[in-house]
Amino acid sequence: MTDAFGRKHDYLRISLTERCNLRCFYCMPAEGIPLRPKDHFMRTEEIISIAKTFVELGVKKIRLTGGEPLIRKDADSIIKQLSELPIELGITTNGILVDQFIDCFEESGLKAINVSLDSLQHEKMASITRRDYFNRIMSNIQLLIDRGFDVKVNTVVMRGTNDDEITDFIEWTRNTNVHVRFIEFMPFGGNDWDWSKGVSLDEILSRTTDRFGAFGFERITDRANDTSKNYRLKGGIGTFAVISSVTNPFCDTCNRIRLTADGKLKNCLFSNSETDLLTSLRAGNNILELIQDNILNKRSMRGGMDSISDFSNPALNQQNRSMVAIGG
Ligand code: SF4
Repeated sequence: MTDAFGRKHDYLRISLTERCNLRCFYCMPAEGIPLRPKDHFMRTEEIISIAKTFVELGVKKIRLTGGEPLIRKDADSIIKQLSELPIELGITTNGILVDQFIDCFEESGLKAINVSLDSLQHEKMASITRRDYFNRIMSNIQLLIDRGFDVKVNTVVMRGTNDDEITDFIEWTRNTNVHVRFIEFMPFGGNDWDWSKGVSLDEILSRTTDRFGAFGFERITDRANDTSKNYRLKGGIGTFAVISSVTNPFCDTCNRIRLTADGKLKNCLFSNSETDLLTSLRAGNNILELIQDNILNKRSMRGGMDSISDFSNPALNQQNRSMVAIGG
């Protein structure tokens, strides 16, 4: 699972579905994405079988994503079966259904939970997600904190939409045991991306300094392979961080690969070349070679869009799937 640049891949993100109970405007079109026949997607036993193969190859961490992973009817069975593997299991969810799965999480030892939340304001969250679940999401975040989960909050920062709340999110971490991660706005199929709507790591830090002072917060140690640069308010309970794929990419330590809900292997979030594992598995073939070839073909950075001009070129960055069909 080592690529041509010596990066060892031991972290698999599995998308359980392309469906979601939200319609975030930067992730999927208002009408949703075209629904495909059920047999296009991995069945429970196929997810477990492919996951076992990756664990045999050295995967140590699996994160479940979507769309919204918890809307899948067999989500609890998948979580329980994966929790029997020698891995660290995590999930990224929009938080709406967390109260219905929290016992399953505890029984399965699933502790690392990322909840997507793009605003601390009810109405704005409703306008970003085109659904009204703000109160439910906030109470479920508090429920997770009260039950001792390690709660990260993923916030995509968009200029003119929620960048005015950056320091409010940080203030939230002062007395709340939550880890806010600001994500630089990234290009995906159909999200009408251009960098003028993004807010960079540097700008987030300068706004933080303006509000809290240069000595009001501190840099804290990042974990190995961390995608985020981490900080804490002085005396704060929680932390905040920035994931800077646009202005400060972290590809040199990348250990991540992705399995889409329809069983395709993506060696990079931004890679357009995918390997179809599901069809091969259903044909009874061994998928090991396919996996190794896919990883050996991984580009050094952002699926080959190394320069910011390439990364900003719609002719290149719009060939990728929509975010909902990758799972971040
Ligand atoms: S852009 Fe691709 S190579 Fe870079 S860190 Fe993300 S997944 Fe890894």
